[in-house]
Parts: sequence; structure tokens; C-alpha cells
Amino acid sequence: MRVSIIGAGPAGIACGVLLKRYGVDVRIFEKGKIGGIIRNAWRVENFPPLGFISGESFAKQLEWYVEQYDIPVTHDEILKIEDFRLYGQNATYDCDIAIVATGTKPRRIPELEVSNRVLYEYVNLPRDIKTVAVYGGGDVAIDYAIHAFEDGIMPMVFVRSNQLKAVRKLVEYAKERNIHIRLGDAIKRVEEGNSGIIIFSDSGRYEFDALLIAIGRELNMPEIDVSKMRVYTIGDCAHLDLRQSSIAIGDGIRCAMEILNEMR
Ligand SMILES: Cc1cc2nc3c(=O)[nH]c(=O)nc-3n(C[C@H](O)[C@H](O)[C@H](O)COP(=O)(O)OP(=O)(O)OC[C@H]3O[C@@H](n4cnc5c(N)ncnc54)[C@H](O)[C@@H]3O)c2cc1C
Repeated sequence: MRVSIIGAGPAGIACGVLLKRYGVDVRIFEKGKIGGIIRNAWRVENFPPLGFISGESFAKQLEWYVEQYDIPVTHDEILKIEDFRLYGQNATYDCDIAIVATGTKPRRIPELEVSNRVLYEYVNLPRDIKTVAVYGGGDVAIDYAIHAFEDGIMPMVFVRSNQLKAVRKLVEYAKERNIHIRLGDAIKRVEEGNSGIIIFSDSGRYEFDALLIAIGRELNMPEIDVSKMRVYTIGDCAHLDLRQSSIAIGDGIRCAMEILNEMR
């Protein structure tokens, strides 16, 4: 029985590890880096008993599990799942069971994407910059701003609404660091500058080295046809409103147990 897991984030890796422990023929498909979006996080504080751990270390731990269990990883983007086949960007793969663990993608604002200095993922931020504007008022935006500050990059947060949605603890951390948060200040336009970008917001004109947009995330799934084959969906892409690494990992383990029980 060949099991294919699409997505090497917390959900996919947790699922793959448990299946591999039971000797199942499992393979992971990943379009980017192993570890998933947790790699962007400044600090994960709510994953007992790990204590406070950086997103980068969390992702490295996941990578370690993949190596320890010798789980084969194919680097390809899966576009479609149909009829016991995965259709990837590079090739087509046969499988008996597919598990979709493809997480979420950032909600975009295409009209602001005027240069490669307008980004959505913290890990893609150029290392040589001194200032960054962050757009958004949720957990990810405030996490990005703190992450930048801790990396020696001066952040300024633009929030369209008049209040923050981020968890209170993150807001406290941002306040302790005197991070400038501009409530009720929507970004209207962005232009490419000489070395960075120029932002035009409700309150005026600002220059930054880069802009990080974090205004929410949406489902990210390949095309799936379930008429002939069994396809499981786990992690953030199964629970858009419960985006927590612990839930993604638990969901991956639950899915593996279900598959193992069915095999027995
Ligand atoms: C900045 C930030 C801070 C966070 N902080 C915390 C925190 O403190 N605590 C916490 O519990 N959670 C936190 N989270 C949330 C946590 O990262 C997610 O809940 C968790 O990563 C979800 O795991 P997942 O495996 O479902 O999806 P993801 O982590 O999104 O992994 C999905 C993987 O699938 C791959 N993929 C997608 N599509 C395809 C395709 N078609 N083909 C092949 N591969 C594909 C992606 O490249 C990715 O590696 C944070 C998230 C962010 C962005």
C-alpha cells in the first residue's frame, strides 16, 4: 500500500513519521522547504513541553524527524490528485492513498506587488535590510514585526482597522519593544524606490527597504477528485480556523492511526 503525503509541514511530517514507524510505504511530496510555514515564526510559545522555541528551530526539528525515519521526500508541487495518481509540476506519481497536508497560502494584494521587495513570508525577507513595513493586525503581522525587530530590522506596522486582532501576549511583546503600530492607517499604494519601496498610506508617504503583507491566510489545496480514491485532508488545510502547529501535528497522528486501523 503506497501512501503519499502532500506537504512537509507539521501535519504531513507527524503523519509520515507514525506511518513509517509501522512500516508503511510512505513518501512525502514538498514544493518548498521541509518544515512548513512555522519556519516564519519568531517564537512558538504554546507547544508544551518544548518551551519557547524559534520557528526556525521548530522546522529544523521536523526536518530531523524526516531524516531519522528515512522518509523519502520528492521535491515537486502536486497540482492534481485523481484516480490513484498525483500530477506534479515535474512528473506523475502512482499511489494508493493520498493525504493532503498543504496548509494555507497568504491572502494577497496584487496591486501592491510592485517589486520583489513586497513579500508575504518572513523567511523570504532580504537579509541586508534595515527597515520593514508590515501590513496587517493579526498574529502573523505582529509576529513578523517582533521577528524583524529581534533581527535588527526596524519595523513599522500598518493596520487598516482601528484595533489589533493579534493575541494579547504578542501585542504586549510588541509594546515592550516600542514597535510603532499605526492603527486605522491603510496602505493605498506602493511604488518602487531607488533602493527600496515608497508606501502611500492614509496618513502619508513613507520609505522602507521592504514591505511584508500579512493580512490573513486562505486554503491552499491541489485539485482533488475523490470519486475513485481515498484522500485525507489534515492540518491547517482541513481546519482553517484552528491554525495551530499542535493541532496540525495531532491531526497528522490521528490520520495515521485511522489509516493503520483500516489496514489492520
Ligand atoms: C508567522 C507565523 C507564526 C506562527 N506561530 C505559531 C505559534 O506560535 N504556535 C502555533 O501553534 N502555530 C503557529 N503558527 C501556525 C503554524 O505554523 C501552522 O498551524 C502549522 O504550520 C500548520 O501545519 P500544516 O502542516 O498544516 O501546514 P503548513 O505548515 O502550511 O505546511 C504545508 C506544507 O505543504 C507544502 N505545500 C503546499 N502546497 C503544496 C503542493 N501543491 N505540493 C507540494 N507541497 C505543497 C508547503 O510548501 C508547506 O511546506 C504560525 C504561523 C505563522 C505563519
